[in-house]
Parts: sequence; structure tokens; C-alpha cells
Amino acid sequence: MPKSQFVHFLLGGAEFEEDEEYLQFQFRFLYILMLNGLVFNSAILVSDGLGVMKLGTAHLIMTHAYSLVSLLLMVLVWGRKERFFRVAWSYVVLNFLQFVSALLFVTADEMRVVWFFLQISGVYILLGAWPGMVNTLVTILAIHGVNQYLQPPLSSHALSTLTLSLGAAGVVFHVYSSRSVSFHRRMVESNIQLRKLSTEDPLTGLLNARAYYALVDRLIRLSTRSGASFAVLFIDLDHFKSINDRYGHEAGDTVLKETAACLKRLIRHSDALGRIGGEEFSIFLSTITPEEALKFAEKLRSDIERLMPRIEAMPLRITASIGVAMNQAEPLTFAEIQGQADQAMYRAKAAGRNRVTLFDGQAVSHATTVVAH
Ligand code: GH3
Ligand code: MG
Ligand code: MG
Repeated sequence: MPKSQFVHFLLGGAEFEEDEEYLQFQFRFLYILMLNGLVFNSAILVSDGLGVMKLGTAHLIMTHAYSLVSLLLMVLVWGRKERFFRVAWSYVVLNFLQFVSALLFVTADEMRVVWFFLQISGVYILLGAWPGMVNTLVTILAIHGVNQYLQPPLSSHALSTLTLSLGAAGVVFHVYSSRSVSFHRRMVESNIQLRKLSTEDPLTGLLNARAYYALVDRLIRLSTRSGASFAVLFIDLDHFKSINDRYGHEAGDTVLKETAACLKRLIRHSDALGRIGGEEFSIFLSTITPEEALKFAEKLRSDIERLMPRIEAMPLRITASIGVAMNQAEPLTFAEIQGQADQAMYRAKAAGRNRVTLFDGQAVSHATTVVAH
């Protein structure tokens, strides 16, 4: 079996998101525990069959039941990460019953109580601090509860040693697992924060230039493979500098934020939008004809014109010049298509601003007023 398939098998056939690293670990751990349990159980059944280690009828039945239920749980959780907690808890209970059965029925084995230590460490790793603590307490109580039925019962000395050592193991694992879980959580949070910082434009919340280019690169490769047409729009606000000059930088920021929100509302889920410069935005439109792209750009232009953000309690009219470039029969790189959209945008500026221009040079929309305030 190739390694990747083997890893897929050990992961219980489930796929995990980037932020599900811890669940992935727990899921894999559960699957490995289950496989391990089955192998060990089979070895125990074989040695019973060979007469090396007799289990007795009651524990033999329990051991067969354990194997069957383990298999069932493995099937139930295969590829179903949402079932992890229910299956993990069921598996914990199953193991607990198996160890209690060994304690009650495999009287020839003086060391069988050692399995409970394995159970304690396993539950802390599998389910975390609080389930681990509940399991530790239940284990100690259960041992005390069944002691009178053991042949022979554990001495009070042995019971005290067992209680103290199980309790101490519980405390050690509790501290370790709560620390490592909170450490992991903080690491995940700072990774998310870092990713956000490195991909998001802090003013508008849109993708920054780097993240936008990386996304569009992927989208272009997908479109090229499927033969779908796409368009790139270059949007530049008109006379934006004069808004800053007249009303201040903060007013300029408000205009940028409102424009970004307006663009965001208009794009589809499959499109990409980024702030690629001060007052420059780029949009990648997937699976679209030139007519649709121009119609969409025209809608953007008119919506920006009607946006009227309030600056100093007065609505301010802003406009944008939009360049549109389409992919052609010859595959072009994104930089080339973006360059074409840029050129089209400059033609829109030269033709009087507040208009949409397709790269081949045709201005398709005019507006009466050019100046933005
Ligand atoms: P045109 O119609 O030719 O595009 O003129 P313009 O004034 O929009 O063009 P120009 O490129 O000269 O001006 C862009 C201005 O955008 C200059 C810069 O001060 C401003 N700017 C860039 N980033 C920000 C920002 O984050 N906030 C604000 N408020 N202004 C910004
Ligand atoms: Mg500009
Ligand atoms: Mg501008």
C-alpha cells in the first residue's frame, strides 16, 4: 500500500480542514488505539485458544464482544469526523468494561489491574482534561466497588497504593493535557491571526494584493483547465487625492471602506476581489462572457456613483474608472491580463473618467459628470 493510502487509513478515512489539526490528531489516535486494541485482543484470544493463558468463559465472551463492538465502532467512525466524540466515548466505555471484566474474571493474572493505567493515560490523550478526570475518578470508584467480588480481594494496603497511584497518574496527565491543549489552542489562534495579517488589507478587510494575486493565479489555472472564459476588472477611484486634500485622510479612508463594501456585496462567491493599491481594486470574474463582464462593470460603476458616502454629514459623490480585460484564445499570465485591464482603465481616465472601457478600446459607458465632489 503506498504511504499516502496508509496514512489515509490511519486517519480513519476522514479529511480535515487546516484549523482541525487537533481533531485530526484525536481522530488518528482513536483509530490507532482501535487497531491496536483489535490486534492485542486477537493475540489474547489466540493464547487462550492455545491454552497459554486461559481467560475463562465469562471473559472470553467479553473479549469476543469487545472485538465485535470495536469493529463496529471503526466502521461507524470511518470517514465521519462528526461522529468522533460519540464513538470515542463509546470506545472508552468499552475498554473500561473489558478491564473490569478482566479484573473480575481473569483471577489467575495478578497484574491485570495495570490495564487501568493504560485506560487513564489513553482517555487524557484522546478526549482531554475533563473526560480524563471523570474517567480517573470512575476507575478508582469502580475498583473499590468491585473489590469485594474479586477472588481474592485486594488488600486494603494494595487498594490504597492503587488509589494513590491512579490518582497521581490522573493529576499528572490532567496538568499535562490541559496545558498542552491550551498551548495548542493559542498556537492555532495566533496562526489564524498571522494568516489574517498576511492576507487581509486592514482598512477594508479585502484581500491584500499578494493574497489576491495568489488566489487569482489558482482561479486562472482552474479556468484554463476547464476552458472557461474569465474577466479581470481594474477599478480606480477618480480624483481620490482631492478627497483626501479637501476632507482629510480619514474621510478618504471612509470612502475606501464603503467602496470596498459595495464591491464585496456585488461579486459572486466564485469571484475574487482585492485591494491592490491605495484606491485601486481588482476583481476576477470567473465563467463570464465579455458582454456579461461589461454589464457587471457598468453596474459597479453606477453603484459606486450612487453610493454617496456621508462625509462631514454630507453625501459625497464618488466615481470610478473601470478597465476590463478578458482571457483570450492564447493563454495569458495574470500579470499580462491585469496589465491590459490597467491600460483599459487609463483609457477610461483619458476619455473623461467615470466610465467602463474594454481592453480592445471601446468605451461602453459614459457619465455626465466627472469630478467627484
Ligand atoms: P485619478 O482620477 O487620476 O485616479 O486621480 P487620483 O487622485 O485618484 O489618483 P492618485 O493616484 O494621484 O491618488 C491616489 C491617492 O490615494 C493618493 C494617496 O494619498 C491616496 N491614498 C492611498 N492609500 C490611501 C489610504 O489608505 N487612505 C487614504 N485616505 N488615502 C490613500
Ligand atoms: Mg490610482
Ligand atoms: Mg485614482
